[in-house]
Amino acid sequence: MNEMAAEGLSDLYKLQTKMLLSVDELWLKGSNRGLYFKSICRHIGQVLKAYHPASFDLKNEHNRLIISSPEAFSPELAIQLQKVAGIHSIAPCWNLGKEIKETLPVLKKIFQSLSPAGKSFKIESKRTLKTYPMTSVEIDAYLGGELYEAFEAQNIRVDLRNPDLKISVRLTDSGFYAYAREFAGMGGLPIGTSGHLMGLLSGGFDSAVAGYLMNRRGCHMSYIFFHAYPYIGDEVKDKIKKLATHMAAHQTSTKLYVFPFGHLQAEISKVCKPAYRTLIYRKFMIQIADRIAFRLGIPALVTGDSMGQVASQTLYNLSALETGRHIPILRPLIGFNKQEILSFARKIGTHDISVIPHDDACSLFAPKHPVTRPDFKYWMHFLAENTFQELIQELMGKVECYTLDIKGNLVQMTFPLVK
Ligand code: ATP
Ligand code: MG
Repeated sequence: MNEMAAEGLSDLYKLQTKMLLSVDELWLKGSNRGLYFKSICRHIGQVLKAYHPASFDLKNEHNRLIISSPEAFSPELAIQLQKVAGIHSIAPCWNLGKEIKETLPVLKKIFQSLSPAGKSFKIESKRTLKTYPMTSVEIDAYLGGELYEAFEAQNIRVDLRNPDLKISVRLTDSGFYAYAREFAGMGGLPIGTSGHLMGLLSGGFDSAVAGYLMNRRGCHMSYIFFHAYPYIGDEVKDKIKKLATHMAAHQTSTKLYVFPFGHLQAEISKVCKPAYRTLIYRKFMIQIADRIAFRLGIPALVTGDSMGQVASQTLYNLSALETGRHIPILRPLIGFNKQEILSFARKIGTHDISVIPHDDACSLFAPKHPVTRPDFKYWMHFLAENTFQELIQELMGKVECYTLDIKGNLVQMTFPLVK
């Protein structure tokens, strides 16, 4: 992207007023293809409104999306489009005109801007306008031949297998387009096409990556953080807000709920066996998230659990956490090791936020030797005897909800669960 930023300053790149986007996993879509495109176009439209000050037009031509504008697109826009689930590739491109002969002046300029001297090259064209009188192979040969003739003196050569320079040409209903570079998109399915999830966001590496992975599978994410207030200060809340702000770039609007968990933790730790504290905190987090999600019509939770990563994530403990549940918990990282999770966190940009040290709700009053295989009788008995209903009800009224826009700006803060 940096290279593109530099080139964005040249006159040629100011002509880049088109963008070609290809979508991912389209082959999976049958009758609901329309819904898929409606969702992705709505999302792209919001990104354009946020990051492209000029007017624009977004068209679907044979399942390839073409964005046009009177003004050139900025590199920042392409970076933001890389955060839109469902996009496979992004190619800022030039419009070359409707007829093949018209394409040559701009095509030559593009070629010259790639410093072709002494290099091999290839034209690779594809056409969706099947009625055009030339096939792709003929287009390749014609344009390649013209470039060769024009730049022969610079000692260029054609190499179809492993060229130094490749110019991609696309012929659609609206004419010829060319690009020299394309950028990988996030892939997956458009946000919302797989429904809505509530992610338990803890501030570590795992839960943010889990949210990203579910975004990529087409799920709209809301997040909930259990804040051990007043035992832990607001620094950790600020860190969570930073994470949510970062994650907000993947959606047109994002909600972060913050539950004041400290008093409940203190009450739990008074009455449970010390070895069970962490697990029981987790049980109540899940139970509360479950209740809030159910109330909001969200059909499942997401956590960053990875099998065996810490004591609370043994199979026996994960199984204990399932008792008496209303809605399922999705655990997209269950089979990942820490290195894999960290490399994902680096890739999606959450690593440097998650790495900031924070006091964590589960380690508050944490036992030295947490249980890894809970006694089922004790577990069931404890949960039946200790519901903390009144306290939870009272704390529900203090839940804060932060609504963030696509740029991560705070739109509003409310107390949505006050009776
Ligand atoms: P992360 O898993 O994000 O790195 P962590 O390792 O500190 O953080 P664990 O103790 O492993 O968290 O908890 C496993 C999962 O439980 C987290 O991934 C998260 O989904 C959820 N969780 C734990 N603590 C909290 C919290 N305070 N608020 C919201 N969710 C939490
Ligand atoms: Mg973890």
